[in-house]
Amino acid sequence: MCGIVAYLGAKEAQPILVEGLKRLEYRGYDSAGVALLGSGAIRVKKTSGRISALESILGNFGQGETLGIGHTRWATHGEPNTINAHPHMDYSGKIAVVHNGIIENYETLRTWLRSEGVEFVSDTDTEVVSNLIGYFYNKGDGDEKSGITGGQSRFEWAVQRALREIYGTYGLAILCSDNPNMLIGAKKGSPLILGVGAGEYILASDASAIVEHTTQAIYMSDNEMVVVTPKGFYTKTINNVAVTKDLKEIEFSLDQIELDGFEHHMLKEIFEQPKSLATCMGGRLDPINKRIVLGGIGNHFRDLTRTKRLILTACGTAWHAGLVGEFLFEQLARIPTETEYASEFRYRNPIIEDGTVVVAISQSGETADTLAAVEQAKERGATVLGIVNVVGSSIARNTDAGVYLHVGPEIGVASTKAFTAQVAVLTMLAIELGRRRHISSEDANYLIKEMALIPDKIKKVLEQSAHIKEIAAANLNKNNWLFLGRGLNYPVALEGALKLKEISYIHAEGLPAAEMKHGPIALIADEMPAVFIATAGSQYDKIMGNIEEVRARGGRTIIVGTEGDENIKNHADYLITVPDVPELLQPLLTVVPLQLLAYHAAVLRGHDVDKPRNLAKSVTVE
Ligand code: GLU
Repeated sequence: MCGIVAYLGAKEAQPILVEGLKRLEYRGYDSAGVALLGSGAIRVKKTSGRISALESILGNFGQGETLGIGHTRWATHGEPNTINAHPHMDYSGKIAVVHNGIIENYETLRTWLRSEGVEFVSDTDTEVVSNLIGYFYNKGDGDEKSGITGGQSRFEWAVQRALREIYGTYGLAILCSDNPNMLIGAKKGSPLILGVGAGEYILASDASAIVEHTTQAIYMSDNEMVVVTPKGFYTKTINNVAVTKDLKEIEFSLDQIELDGFEHHMLKEIFEQPKSLATCMGGRLDPINKRIVLGGIGNHFRDLTRTKRLILTACGTAWHAGLVGEFLFEQLARIPTETEYASEFRYRNPIIEDGTVVVAISQSGETADTLAAVEQAKERGATVLGIVNVVGSSIARNTDAGVYLHVGPEIGVASTKAFTAQVAVLTMLAIELGRRRHISSEDANYLIKEMALIPDKIKKVLEQSAHIKEIAAANLNKNNWLFLGRGLNYPVALEGALKLKEISYIHAEGLPAAEMKHGPIALIADEMPAVFIATAGSQYDKIMGNIEEVRARGGRTIIVGTEGDENIKNHADYLITVPDVPELLQPLLTVVPLQLLAYHAAVLRGHDVDKPRNLAKSVTVE
């Protein structure tokens, strides 16, 4: 995770770096720093805490200097204090580095560098990078016939030489005090984009730090580096082979990442869902001509229709979307489907039979575990599809084909609009496969027609935000909650519990409602809140039984029910309603009140919902 940003141009670098870091802050926010290069020396300012803490110590730091690098950290190695904050200088004071990723062999390299007399000051893996580059820069590699070749500066060579020793992942921006007009970036496994403006360049972890300056960018690939000077830039591999990259248009605008009058990005994104879902389904779900067109999948529809087994792989919220997809693929298309945590899948020596299709789901398209699962599945011969939001992201580029969510940037760390769009894409895919394999055209057309109505129905749920806030307030002193649902609403229960945990820090468990009696029912006492998703459908009577089991033991019921259901009022301590929709489409609606419940609980508890403790937005580390 973490965000890196670097600037080379004619303007003063420091304010641009700070502005860029603020835009990247959702990626990590435990410490931050900048390094500026002017008059032959690199100067660093860094601190623990957020970008605001960095800003308060910066003042005029770096005034007039036009080349610099910055970092907002999500610590993996070493606690989030000032010494461990980036940028990291090398031992000789000539090299400065900001890094996103993990250097896996850092202990071996550190031991070796120490034996060579190099001193370390931090606990990070990153300092190995700055010191290794510094070591090769200062000492060559012990064999001066080595790679210092014509045309290439010693700085470039030292970066390449060092990176060839490193195992792990990195997005890097690097400065060298002897090269006051040069900025080097390098990428492996972590995202890196170079924004190309008029006489200025911004290197960053993602486009949000770039769009204010330019919409033209190159997307770096693994094992590539970019060398930027006032005269232009060139790209090559870390083995010094030139690479030509095309300039691409960045596809989102600044107002998409502004708050637009909302108090938090998360709330804005929850309220955006009628629009974001409509955009996600636009041009794909066609109720007039009764069809679904997912152009990105193209020819691979044939593989999907014939497949004997589908594996959905994802992490966190996207994994919950996958569970909804699993249910739909099995019900509508009768395809045996499993949803795997990407972090487990990749290390399980997975069985991929001939014709298995793997679908990777990730908002950022950079989730390290999911990306590794994609590579693993490809190596084993699977057709791999991606469902991602960020255009041009690593998963989008490394899969055979896929479907973009098209919901615009999601900034709130707790995922909301990406979840509903992931579920929408999986639902469209399942309906279309269902039509080709199992269900009648009439049934498919009915679902298409009903799905098109969902965005408007979400508005009716959003209207209850104030009521949901009251429910959150009335239960704020409760530190343990259960979320219960059956069938398709079981993954929604998991998602509701995750939302509450991640932003309000209230302990919550999501369960299939019927599982409660096999253990967790022992927890029910003292008006413990139990959130039930008890909408109209095939399991309605069953879940009513589960609700009564909770009430009989003194639990408090918060029920998400269907509009017009008079009966449910007698079973609910608190009731939230959603409009009636076919059971198979319910997750698109029933998750929305749970997002709002978590949001209001977190705000009422005084937490920073957009930057929850210990979390960061796109998990680009293992
Ligand atoms: N591994 C580095 C550190 O802990 C970078 C972490 C990150 O990418 O967030 O400082």
